[in-house]
Amino acid sequence: MTTADAVGTTVRVAFDGPDGRAVLEAARRAADAAAEAEGPPIETLAVGSPGTVHLPLVAVTREGRTAVHRSVDPNGAASLVSLLADGDDDLPVDGASAVVDHEPEPDDFPVGDGPLSAGTRRTLRGAGWADPTTFESPGTLGDEALETVSDLGVRGRGWGDARQDEPLAAGWRDARDADGDPVVVINGLDADPKADGDRLLLGSLPGRVVAGAVVAASAVDAEDVVAVLPEDDPVVAERVRAVGDRVAAVTDLTVEVVAAEPDYMTAEHTAVLESLEGNDRIEARRRPPDPETWGLFERPTLVHTPRTLAAVERAVADPERLDADAADPGTRLVTVVGPERRTVELPTDTSLSRALVAEEFGKEATEDAGGGDLGETGPTEAFACVGGQFGGLTRDLDTPASAPALRGAGLGTNGSIEPFEEGSGGGCPVVVVGRRMRVAREENCGRCVPCRTGSVRAHELLREVYAGSFAESRLRELARTMGRTSLCEFGGDAARPLATALDEFGGYLRAHADGRCPAGVCDP
Ligand code: SF4
Repeated sequence: MTTADAVGTTVRVAFDGPDGRAVLEAARRAADAAAEAEGPPIETLAVGSPGTVHLPLVAVTREGRTAVHRSVDPNGAASLVSLLADGDDDLPVDGASAVVDHEPEPDDFPVGDGPLSAGTRRTLRGAGWADPTTFESPGTLGDEALETVSDLGVRGRGWGDARQDEPLAAGWRDARDADGDPVVVINGLDADPKADGDRLLLGSLPGRVVAGAVVAASAVDAEDVVAVLPEDDPVVAERVRAVGDRVAAVTDLTVEVVAAEPDYMTAEHTAVLESLEGNDRIEARRRPPDPETWGLFERPTLVHTPRTLAAVERAVADPERLDADAADPGTRLVTVVGPERRTVELPTDTSLSRALVAEEFGKEATEDAGGGDLGETGPTEAFACVGGQFGGLTRDLDTPASAPALRGAGLGTNGSIEPFEEGSGGGCPVVVVGRRMRVAREENCGRCVPCRTGSVRAHELLREVYAGSFAESRLRELARTMGRTSLCEFGGDAARPLATALDEFGGYLRAHADGRCPAGVCDP
């Protein structure tokens, strides 16, 4: 913690893009001017997001109290610092989105009782507060780390992970025992527009992500790590490079940063290898062999997301906190999509509904900070898409956040909840499933028939619902075929919104074919 936290004033500027850099510079100029005028000392720090998308964010801390200002421009930042420089002991709270009292030297962003306080903050600890280029060498490496990950049953997280929702250890052993020089790929490309977990970790806690990669590399005897990052994220790349320099100073590992197009399909764990190898046409590879034995330039390759690697770092650093008997021990990051878009962290034995706050789903949520059946007692019916853009549609968020529980409920695991409330200006399940199938139709790589042709036909049939034809059995067959026989997870995932809409909202599809929208949104 900084000295200024204890005795002076600290101004943290949270950002993950170039616009935030201008805000930081404005704050620093104002602080320098205050110092020249012999005003009170004001320390300025660049940090990543604490979990919100309302950036740039300025958090002003003085004597155990922090005022949070969201979406600040350079003039706003300079004004805040000037107010502090005037010598007034009060925090500038006018216009603040939150003012939080806390212990004098916290090690995490003071979330208070606001939306970011949902769940826990183990993996996110320090996000929005600590220097994002910090790197702490893991204390457990090599075989011991592999056995820890194996004993705990740590699973992969996110659509871009080669072991999505599966235990990691088997793949690590395959890579360790395969011929060739192993390599670890940090797949930071996850371009799911509904899930921010990977980007948040890379921008706010890249040291934790890279530490997880160091653990993985040590377990398979790899000497290099390749971090694939979105090419439109220069600030994130700069922070990861800074961490890589620190890693190189204390280990024999090299961390190379490579920029790639942040395209949803390219984030598929074999497609990202095609991108790294410079291929023009990006398609998913046929498997087996899996990347662990035949990956980047034929080398044994671990492909993991930032979410997975941060979970590995936490598991190895503090294994006692994980329940080795749990099917999916630890926590999962969940982005709540909406006006208060944010990413929170839920223990995997916690109900998804805990990510929500009062009034996000009407009356019941108001009374119970997020109940189970959405809208059961609320003023309007509500539903949600859970698990990314190809998540499942449901009215019930009383499902644990673990991968087996989510999949068992037909939901996605890519870390998001997108709530919809029916009624004018709200959502209709038929519209949502149609849009998701259109994305599948437009963004699949075209390599296999079930996904390429199935998404086209399913999208056409969903459009025909509005013309009075609901081909339910044909749609069910398409969802089943895409889900079971597609070559990669894209096709299987893309079938999920349709499959859950048929199961949960079949009446809505029938009503639309009859010229009526029960949600009051469409004009069939
Ligand atoms: S499932 Fe879709 S994205 Fe995956 S290989 Fe087949 S066509 Fe390509």
